[in-house]
Amino acid sequence: MIFGFFGKKKGKAEEDEEREIEPVSFQGPINGQEVNLKAHAKLVEAGLVRAKDVVTDAMALRADSVKIEPKGPGGLVTISIDGIPQSGGKLSKPETLAITQVLKLVAGLDSKERTKPQQGGLKAEFEGKKYVLRVSSTPVPEGERLLVRIQDVAQKLETLTEMGMGEPMRQRLREILVQPGVILAVGPPGSGTTTTMFGLLKNVDSYQYTVFCMADPGGRTLFGVSTYDDKPEGETLEDSLVRLSRKEANVILVDPVKSSAVAKPIFGKAADLTLISEMPAKDTTSAVTQLVQVVGDAGVVANGLKALVTQKLFRRLCPDCKAPYRPKPDFLKKLGLDESVKTLYRVPPPPDDPKEQPEPCGKCGDVGYFGRVAMFEVLEVTPGIKELIQKGADPAAIREELKKEKQSTLQKDGLRLVAEGVTSLEELQRVFKPA
Ligand SMILES: [Zn+2]
Repeated sequence: MIFGFFGKKKGKAEEDEEREIEPVSFQGPINGQEVNLKAHAKLVEAGLVRAKDVVTDAMALRADSVKIEPKGPGGLVTISIDGIPQSGGKLSKPETLAITQVLKLVAGLDSKERTKPQQGGLKAEFEGKKYVLRVSSTPVPEGERLLVRIQDVAQKLETLTEMGMGEPMRQRLREILVQPGVILAVGPPGSGTTTTMFGLLKNVDSYQYTVFCMADPGGRTLFGVSTYDDKPEGETLEDSLVRLSRKEANVILVDPVKSSAVAKPIFGKAADLTLISEMPAKDTTSAVTQLVQVVGDAGVVANGLKALVTQKLFRRLCPDCKAPYRPKPDFLKKLGLDESVKTLYRVPPPPDDPKEQPEPCGKCGDVGYFGRVAMFEVLEVTPGIKELIQKGADPAAIREELKKEKQSTLQKDGLRLVAEGVTSLEELQRVFKPA
């Protein structure tokens, strides 16, 4: 029993066992700032140990995030494991406040500022492994909501391959990425769009091409990529792009496309440069319509846009306990899977005889899943798609054309991963269930 920090009285044996887990150690903000804990002695005394307890509990369960928010008379902790939220216990009001303030402090944020959203992060170590904890605070009517995202530094999901993209798709993107034009990672907030965008950048051969990154890499190491540090004060994006073309840039990653102020300059340079960015959107086809709106000219988008990439995260089946089964050929046909697939995998079903309880799985704790990867969709602007964009076609018409051209879709890529035994049909159904 290691997760008993929330106000429970514990027996002696339980207390002894708990000592085996060393609490997480906080090792300074990622922005390199020094945090003066002595100057905040009162706050540290009130909240540091409890803050570490909350984060340690979550990390011991290999959570990917912890949310701390005021709720009713106290506070609520929600942890998320492989993207599935679950309760992490309740807190008193003073605890909620102290933990929130301390975590902001150690992440290099202004602990007193509670009316504006803030983002930062800190380095941490837990059970001999290094982590980055990304902390964001958002004002809510009852006070403040704090989200801590836990990233295992060694278990990187940074390249498209690490994220789970198949080789043929990655190869095709590599070809698209070195032709001039705009390539955007799109998706709903929190769906992994930024990771895909940097994955696209990393997919460019930086030995062969001159690559610049104008956006904040968020702690990622970008090998062979130049940053644009000597940007003169007040320079517009348009001017920056001209200046970087003079430095013989081939590929430039720019800030997210959220307004015409970004969209227009990048489409203005689409004939000379490869421009990579991201844009929040429901899916690839609605992103096309959105782009036409922000750019204000369907022809410019049709000519400049090369591809849109989106992703959906899902859980991997636990490699230690996944159970094989033989699907019926007509079932495979219905799914659109190749009949040569002999075996699919799922979470082990309960035994026929309830008395025969098997040993619980030591790896996943009988959840059946362990870790996450992404499925991808690449909308490539072919002559057919280009014509539709020019005509101002709606997302449904573009989707129809994608099907006709047999372009990749999220569903198709998801089924590929089911056929490869990476995940189950049940998990695929879960992630595609309308919210
Ligand atoms: Zn397992």
